[in-house]
Order: sequence, then C-alpha cells, then structure tokens
Amino acid sequence: MAAIHELVEKHRPDLTSYQELYKYFHANPELSNQEFETAATIAKHLKEKISSDFDVRTGIGGTGIAALLFNGEGPTVLLRADFDALPVEERTGLPYASKKRMKDADGVEKPVMHACGHDMHISSLLAAAELLVSAKDSWAGTLLLAFQPAEERGTGAQAMVDDGMYDPKKHNVPIPDMPYRAGVIGTRRGLCASSADSMRIVIHGRGGHASMPDRLIDPVVMAASTVIKLQTIVSREIDPWDTAVVTVASIQAGDAENIVVDDAKISLDVRCINPATREKIRKSIKRIVDAESMAGNAVKEPTYTITRSFPLTVNDDEVTARLEETFSAHFPVDKHNYTTEVSKLGGSEDFPNLATAVGKPYSFFMYGGTSPEVWDKYEAEGTLSEKIPINHSSLFYPDIMPTLQVAIDGYAAGALTWLLKK
Ligand SMILES: [Zn+2]
Repeated sequence: MAAIHELVEKHRPDLTSYQELYKYFHANPELSNQEFETAATIAKHLKEKISSDFDVRTGIGGTGIAALLFNGEGPTVLLRADFDALPVEERTGLPYASKKRMKDADGVEKPVMHACGHDMHISSLLAAAELLVSAKDSWAGTLLLAFQPAEERGTGAQAMVDDGMYDPKKHNVPIPDMPYRAGVIGTRRGLCASSADSMRIVIHGRGGHASMPDRLIDPVVMAASTVIKLQTIVSREIDPWDTAVVTVASIQAGDAENIVVDDAKISLDVRCINPATREKIRKSIKRIVDAESMAGNAVKEPTYTITRSFPLTVNDDEVTARLEETFSAHFPVDKHNYTTEVSKLGGSEDFPNLATAVGKPYSFFMYGGTSPEVWDKYEAEGTLSEKIPINHSSLFYPDIMPTLQVAIDGYAAGALTWLLKK
C-alpha cells in the first residue's frame, strides 16, 4: 500500500490550475440534460491538456462521456463524476458565484447553481486522470472515466446505459471490473443511500362556482383527505425497525376564492431502504389514492406519473474492504480524515445503474467540503445542523482546498487499488 501512497504524492498535478478550473465550472453551471458546454470543456481538457491518448466518446445518453485510457493488460476500473447543476439562485456571495439563468425542460427560465458539488466531482476526476496518466508506468489495465449528465433527475446513468454505452455495436465501452464514484473522506460497507421515487398524482373532480357545492365534485376536499390518509402508510403499515419516508411535497388546486377547479394535483416523494418496502409503499399509495377518489365520487380514476426514480445504493463488501485498505494507508486516520463508517447519504444516487446494468459490484465513497475551522467552531457551539449549508442550498459551497486534493487522491488511489502493477 505504501506504493500507492508514494505514487499519489509524487504524481499529483499542480493544484493551482485545477482550483481555477473548479471556479470556471462553478461559475458556469448547466441544468440537467443541457450540460453541453460542460461536456465540451471536459472532452477538450482530457484530449488537449492531459493526454491525446484518451479515447473520448461523447454524446452517450445525451451529453454523457466515456473516456478510456488503454494501458496494457489488466482490469478495467470505472471512476464516475456527475456534472449537472440545479435550479437554485446562488447566494454565497463568492467572487466566482454563478449568475447564470437558463430555460428548464418546460421552457421556464430558472437561476442555475452548482449547489451539490458536481463541479468538485468533475475537477477532481480530471486532476486524478492527469495524475494517473503521469503514473502510467506503474499500473496496467484500462481506466474508464464516466462523466454523467442528469444525476439530479435520477436519469443520467441509466440513459448512458440505455444508449448503448456497453453495447459492442454502439459505444462499445468495456465493462468495468470494479466501478465506483467519489463523494474528511469515507467509505461504508452495505447500505449507503436510499431509493427514491417521485410522482405526480391528479385527482379529477368537477369544478364550478364556490357557492354551489351540490353541483361540484370538489377536488380540494378529496386531495385534503388523501394527504391525511397517506400519512398513515409509514406510521401504520411499516415495520418500526424499517425506515421509509412518504412526503406530500406539494398540492395545487385553483387560486381563486370563488372558483373550484376540476383537478387537484399532488406531488409525492418516497424514500426506502429495502426493495420489498418500496414495492409495498407503491401499492399502498395506489390503494389509498384510488379509494379516496372513489369515496369523493371523482369523475374518473386518478392519473399517476412517475417523475423520478433512483435505485438503492448498496456498497459491495469486498470492493469496499480493498478501498479501506488503500485509504487507511494513504489518508491519516483521525476523525477529520479517513473513516470506514461514513454516515449514509441524505439523498439518493443513480450511480449504481452504471454498475448493476452490467452485473458488477461497486463502492460509492464520500468526502466533506466544509472548512475545518468553520466545522470545529459550529461543532463546539452545537449548531452544526443549523449553520452548515447542506447540498442544494443556495449557500452551499465547498472549501476548494483541501476538498479538491482529497477528492483527487480518493479517485486516483482508489483506481490504483486494482490497477497497480504487482
Ligand atoms: Zn444533488
């Protein structure tokens, strides 16, 4: 393991230019499925700034990129970075803050911000690529870099697979032997992130004048009753030792005091940690919404649209054990550096699709971005959970250093775990 540590220290590129690159990506975010300039910048950087030996395949599943470096006989390792941004108005006040606005998929203009660290993922994966090119004589195999669009929509990884990323007749990217992605740095065995399902439901009534309830089928009352009943799924139907979330995140039905509209729309977000519960909750939602609709005398059956779907993230024990060995030798071990018990992810991830689509194990690791001084101050005050901006907040930003270096080392040392020459 000493060999990996020495290689990473010796070949890590000059980080000044990567800090600048990070600021460029941060100032120029793009919404999901519209990451055209970001993808072009990545492809150009790989070929022109790092090595013309990269076989860069673009336009996979939209703007996705698979960049391959063939370096002799050996395993194929996939490292992944996602690169879409969010419809959030940045309020950090940073000199390189985003002022960008763009139209979303529905044609509505939105502010755009990298509020989930994807700009850090791209910059550190590019720097790790430069490190691994420089250390090329010490490893053998195929390095596969997957730059993935639309993680925030939960569709990008699957779109790359569905577009024939691994199909010999299409993009013909070799199937990785051990893929994984980055995210103080930490690994975790087993369950790492919940599954997520989002859906929109429309309940169909019959609108009219608010003064004539006998002539209406009121969608507002049906929606209200449905929302209350949906709260009983987790509280009354799920094993107390299991965990699930069913949130009704929005209700829309009219906007005037004297008019009742035809339809009520409700939006749901569901999180689970095991597939059987996920299935059970889907059925419970359908049963409750159908029944409430029938009880309210709806004019037709409710309409269901699934808007997002993320798989469970369950890290492979064996892959993670090998990462533990490398990381504990490379990163100094105390509570501010490497941990094998990193907390589970708050949200959900579509990264597993890149591996499970071809039946391969994976491990997803994570790293922190809050400056140690700020962290220590709020920890001492006991105000960490209120004062540190979380992912998707308009105040979210990682401290570029040491975050960038930890991320680069995680990617590079991780890949060398399987690629290092014996
Ligand atoms: Zn996010």
